[in-house]
Amino acid sequence: MYRHDPAHPWPADAEALRRDREDPLASCRGLFELPAGIAYFDGNSLGPPAVASLERLRRTAEREWREDLVGAWNGRAPDDGWIGLATRAGRKIARLIGAAPHEVLVADSTSVNLFKLLAGALELRPDRRVLLLQEEQFPTDLYIAEGLAALRGGGFEVRRAKTAEMAAALSAEVAVVCLSQVDFRTGELYDMAALGQQARRHGVLTCWDLSHSAGALPVALGENGADLAVGCGYKFLNGGPGAPAFLYVRAEHQNAIRNPLPGWLGHHDPFAFSPEYRPAAGIERFLCGTPPILSLAALDAALEVFAEVDLALVRRKSLALGDFFLELLERRCPGVFAVVTPREHERRGSQISLRHPEAFALVQALIDRGVVPDFRAPDLLRFGLTPLYQRFGDVAAAVAMLSEILESGRHREARFQLRSKVT
Ligand SMILES: *Cc1c(COP(=O)(O)O)cnc(C)c1O
Repeated sequence: MYRHDPAHPWPADAEALRRDREDPLASCRGLFELPAGIAYFDGNSLGPPAVASLERLRRTAEREWREDLVGAWNGRAPDDGWIGLATRAGRKIARLIGAAPHEVLVADSTSVNLFKLLAGALELRPDRRVLLLQEEQFPTDLYIAEGLAALRGGGFEVRRAKTAEMAAALSAEVAVVCLSQVDFRTGELYDMAALGQQARRHGVLTCWDLSHSAGALPVALGENGADLAVGCGYKFLNGGPGAPAFLYVRAEHQNAIRNPLPGWLGHHDPFAFSPEYRPAAGIERFLCGTPPILSLAALDAALEVFAEVDLALVRRKSLALGDFFLELLERRCPGVFAVVTPREHERRGSQISLRHPEAFALVQALIDRGVVPDFRAPDLLRFGLTPLYQRFGDVAAAVAMLSEILESGRHREARFQLRSKVT
């Protein structure tokens, strides 16, 4: 589907070439499989496959599943079986989000994990009835919280506040506040330390959604006193389509918090097949049923790429890519877009979002030229910045194509107005 038309080469940009030559992460690109000639800016929606993930999928299917069959649950060597994969992958994510190894588990989807943790949080604050969420929160988080409140009945309610006004909404009525660290629309990075402190002052538990920060920038859950967190496996972590998500529970809560979906794999001893549920000690009680091993294996292999890289370098390059993008945009398309992503580094996640009334058609016309951002309703063009495989040359190509499209008006062609189900 995505191709780069050789009849329309991207112009070379000397400054971009120089920056790519000096990039200490340049060699990481070779660890991924990317179609030739594509400038990919949608790694914040679906990361590309790591070479290691494709190899692991082959090994998991052809050796483990085909040859070892049910024996693969225990594996050929100690600590190699499928049964421990969810905790092993969790340990790899722990390093990326500033958690202890036994505080993170890979399981289910982000939405399901959020349900489990928010339900658990309500029980940790039995005298409080309010779940507080950001007005700008990713919709699934709002829906899940509403669904949980309705299921609980008994006066539980969801309140929403703009992130900027969150401090005023915190009170002794609130059991838990659920916050995205990075806004999926604007790319704004919120202050985890300050918001966490405000919540603690009112005895409110914090549940962070790290879907747009895990793997994109260093996260410090432990240092900032975060109680709970969830995040996505298929965005910056490159786990593959529908990769399982992760969850974090601060060590001090682990033996008090209950999983509202107490499936057998979260049992203390699943293979005792006891009719009575007894939760596993620690984070493993948040397992529910059997995990999707193929997807989990692909994610686990993708996480090995991160084991080799310094997240401080990833962050530095992400900010440099964003600055370069904004500089070129100012030069090539002055005054055309409203830049909704904060320019200050300390308030910027790992994307650049631009507002334009013709955003949808512009995105389609860019894709036609081999530059792949995405569209977020009603009027945003969203460019994900993914330093492990992105080049400064990709940024130069994106802005050059954007400026060419705007000048020629190509995006007005009828074929660029057609909406698919997924944008
Ligand atoms: C992508 C994303 C999700 C996705 O949830 P799934 O259950 O994996 O589909 C949830 N929350 C946020 C903030 C996201 O960006």
